Amino acid sequence: MQMFKNFKSVSKTVYGKGSFQQLDSILAERRQSDKDFMVFIVDHYFKGKDLEKRIPQHPQDVVLFIDVDPHEPTTEQIDELRDGILQSKGLPAGVIGIGGGSILDIAKAAALMFTNEGSSTLYQGLNLIKKPGIYHVGVPTISGTGAEVSMTAVLTGPEKKLGLKCDWTVFDQIVLDPELIGSVPRNQWFYTGMDTYIHCVESMTGYLKNTFSEAYGYKSIDLCREVFLGKNHGQNPENDEKLMVASYFGGLSLTYSEVGVCHALSYGMSYVFGTRHCLANCIIFDQLEEYYPEGVKEFREMVKVNQIDIPKNLSKQWTEAEVEKMTDVTLALHHMWNHALGTDWKNIITREKIKSLYYQM
Ligand code: NAD
Ligand code: ZN
Repeated sequence: MQMFKNFKSVSKTVYGKGSFQQLDSILAERRQSDKDFMVFIVDHYFKGKDLEKRIPQHPQDVVLFIDVDPHEPTTEQIDELRDGILQSKGLPAGVIGIGGGSILDIAKAAALMFTNEGSSTLYQGLNLIKKPGIYHVGVPTISGTGAEVSMTAVLTGPEKKLGLKCDWTVFDQIVLDPELIGSVPRNQWFYTGMDTYIHCVESMTGYLKNTFSEAYGYKSIDLCREVFLGKNHGQNPENDEKLMVASYFGGLSLTYSEVGVCHALSYGMSYVFGTRHCLANCIIFDQLEEYYPEGVKEFREMVKVNQIDIPKNLSKQWTEAEVEKMTDVTLALHHMWNHALGTDWKNIITREKIKSLYYQM
């Protein structure tokens, strides 16, 4: 019998400029007594900024600022965060992540780990989590990864980079306030925005594509075109509204289909070199004309119009062993290859072919 995906969506969504101010009243429903405390996990960038004063913190709450630049979220980091809070204050009433994809993943993973014993390394994979996590809210401050809608919280562990993936990972509530993304540095804005564009190109070009995922994908790509190529292209308040919706729709498009060649190669690169997901995707997608001719052409146009630097000639510095390792990681992502190239993908994409693609970078 064919199995159809039965995916869990975010339960509640608020959208609009200034909607962040509604967060206190949203959380109020979850505060039964003064003992119920919230944990706000906030991107370190906002420390000392206006947003810090606007966090609806009550006296019993905890606010943690996390610097996501040294590395992508790790299992060790989640375990420490969970253990620290449980030992000092007990079980929170909710976790609220305010930041980019990294912070959203930390908030999702922490919410699950508050109720699941042991290290988060035990739960890296599909449906390994045993109990529902605690109430969790996502407030994105960069748009593109789709982490606000996805079923996964990507963590790097000692053995693998893999998400805690299950229905309970999905946020109970998201607050999409386009004003919060206005301050994202230009290159980052582009790289993360392109993650959405690539999600859609990949989800709509492969064996698992279907009308449901295409409907979201087409709309998301239209919005990306307006933001990155339109008459009024670039970072501005009107485009911030569009990019935030594009990210959400792009996330839904890939949820009901799958990502493809670029993401498969990107996981390998991030694993071996720690390259950030969205930057790695831009470096790789630029070399994938063979698989996504129209998408790559338009991507290059977006790069040019927005005057973004995409790093090139990286492979000169890579060792044979590093390229082999990247190839191993990539080849393990069967579901992506299945979607991109079909069930006989092993006959189409060889180790040599993957290595030659990496050597073009
Ligand atoms: P990020 O969260 O890694 O942040 C990138 C940089 O932007 C950081 O320096 C951060 O401090 C800064 N920043 C964040 N918001 C800002 C703002 N409003 N103004 C100024 N600076 C700001 O960026 P990202 O690209 O959104 O997320 C990448 C992460 O998302 C990776 O860890 C990746 O693994 C993860 N990811 C998750 C999923 C998922 O479905 N769960 C999907 C794709 C990627
Ligand atoms: Zn992605």
